[in-house]
Amino acid sequence: MADIIKLLPDHVANQIAAGEVVQRPASVVKELLENSIDAGAANVKLIVKDGGRTLVQVVDDGSGMTQTDARLSFERHATSKIASAEDLFNLHTKGFRGEALASIAAIAHVELLSRTLEAEVGTHIRIEGSEVVAQEVVATPKGTSIAVKNLFFNIPARRNFLKSDQVELRHIIDEFQRVALAHPMVAFKMYNNGSEYFNLPQEGLRQRIVHIFGGKMKERLVPVSEETEVVTITGFVCKPEFSRKSRGEQFFFTNHRFVKSPYLHHAVVSAFEGLLKPDTHPGYFLNLEVDPQSIDINIHPTKTEVKFDDEHTLYAILRAAVKHSLGQFHIAPLLDFERDQNLDTPYQYRNKEAQSPTITVDASFNPFQEGNLSTTAKNYKASSNVENWKDLYDFGDITLPDTNMLQVESDAASPEVFENEDEPLMLHQATFQLQRKYVVSTVKSGLLVINQHRAHQRILFERFLAEITVKKGIVQQLLFPKTLTFPASEIAVLQSFKEELSGLGFDLMFQSGETLTVNGAPNGLPEAKIAGVLEDLLGSYTEEKTLEGHFSQTEWLSKTLCRSLAIKTGQHLSPEMQTALVNDLFACKEPKLSPFQKTIYVIIGENEIANKF
Ligand code: ADP
Ligand code: MG
Repeated sequence: MADIIKLLPDHVANQIAAGEVVQRPASVVKELLENSIDAGAANVKLIVKDGGRTLVQVVDDGSGMTQTDARLSFERHATSKIASAEDLFNLHTKGFRGEALASIAAIAHVELLSRTLEAEVGTHIRIEGSEVVAQEVVATPKGTSIAVKNLFFNIPARRNFLKSDQVELRHIIDEFQRVALAHPMVAFKMYNNGSEYFNLPQEGLRQRIVHIFGGKMKERLVPVSEETEVVTITGFVCKPEFSRKSRGEQFFFTNHRFVKSPYLHHAVVSAFEGLLKPDTHPGYFLNLEVDPQSIDINIHPTKTEVKFDDEHTLYAILRAAVKHSLGQFHIAPLLDFERDQNLDTPYQYRNKEAQSPTITVDASFNPFQEGNLSTTAKNYKASSNVENWKDLYDFGDITLPDTNMLQVESDAASPEVFENEDEPLMLHQATFQLQRKYVVSTVKSGLLVINQHRAHQRILFERFLAEITVKKGIVQQLLFPKTLTFPASEIAVLQSFKEELSGLGFDLMFQSGETLTVNGAPNGLPEAKIAGVLEDLLGSYTEEKTLEGHFSQTEWLSKTLCRSLAIKTGQHLSPEMQTALVNDLFACKEPKLSPFQKTIYVIIGENEIANKF
């Protein structure tokens, strides 16, 4: 048999290597920014177009490269950062593989400009798919500019695999923030499609966090600092009351490199034990300075995983340091997380004498005798004041049904719903609230128990979906426009949803920078809740998986909004609200399941009840 093994040509080898280094535009951003840091830059500028698909450019004022180095830098395994295997154990740079530029050049159009301080002129190189198409001498400022255009131009499968510009941009912002947080002493700017997203001067970590995540961070940060033989910890944790539902702001840096470590994450979370609201996550920005010899950052190609020699000790030190900070700043005793404002005294009851509750039970009462419970519906309808609310529990008051009333009410409900083929829901319109969590009513076949929170989620979800699609949300203009501040990057995110939001009834005006003016909000959304709703939206947006899932943006937006706006467990519902809830629910397309696939109601059959006696 003839010999069949061939050496792959360089450009093919580079393309294969690129698959590991460059998953998406954000990978390019990371590599270029890290190269600028390694080159000792004091100012770094990132310019992005169309989520990085069209352009990713990084301009720095670092060391620059000589003409020879500039040309060599695109060769595989060409690096100035290590010379021998031993150097691997004493790394002070981000890069060391000498792979990034070669890989990027294999799958994009790359343009480099670079000049060292000493040289009078610089170098200009153009490479397309590993092929040098131009090299010349040019006048250029000291430092380096690398522009990466048309990423994956020669690998259509990869290019098609990219997500929407918005999603790619989100990944880029994540990488940018990681590098910027790890190096507060370097000034960074970022632009996307011509607008400025970040402008971060040289500063300390606290200011850097505030610049990136907005002024609201100022009051939230608690400093952490601990110096031991194995590790020096510096940075901040967020006060527990500002913990978020999404896992947004969690950053570990070892020796100024962003790393992920589920184990150390656990150490931080455990230091917060007992201080966090359920299902929320603490924010943190922590630098762990360790001896480079005691870590191995080489175990993962994209280098975010890290392996420490002595993880157990690190865990203990970190946990103790965070606990100490939380204690020192008197965070712990001030908290009262159990308090739910929905459980506060209803307005009508304030300043009223407390009365001992009375419940009289009519032993002969049969709830399934035609018409019996319906009478309470009459009581609800007759008046909405609190006295009638008490009647709910006072079965002794039951009188004969008013048939006229029943007629009117069942007309109000959408008839086809109650003639639903799987459950003939002959709703008798009598409702009451159980444990401020369920709305209970009767149907032909038994007792209907509706989870109020989930029901309202479903109602809002379907309404929002419709409103966004046909843009018919009713705007309620605010008397005094409200100005909100968010970090510029979040403003940009909101701006990208402007159309959908206006479909819902948001009238938003975007100025430059960190402010946003709300002129109007969806009808029925209390003014005090506007900021919270937008924050929830941004939080959920950060959890990128929601956007990358199979459902559409409209659906995602509706889900997020219905989650934050639906009435909660613990909220008292007036009889009118209960009736409306039931009617609206059964007017929905899918009344059985909440948008999050949870059961909305159950029917406890007559037999089931009878069996209990
Ligand atoms: P690595 O960073 O692993 O060494 P890269 O492929 O990222 O590999 O870069 C190759 C070499 O090019 C670097 O070692 C460095 O000498 C040079 N280089 C890359 N970017 C810059 C820059 N912005 N400024 C100066 N030199 C750079
Ligand atoms: Mg590099």
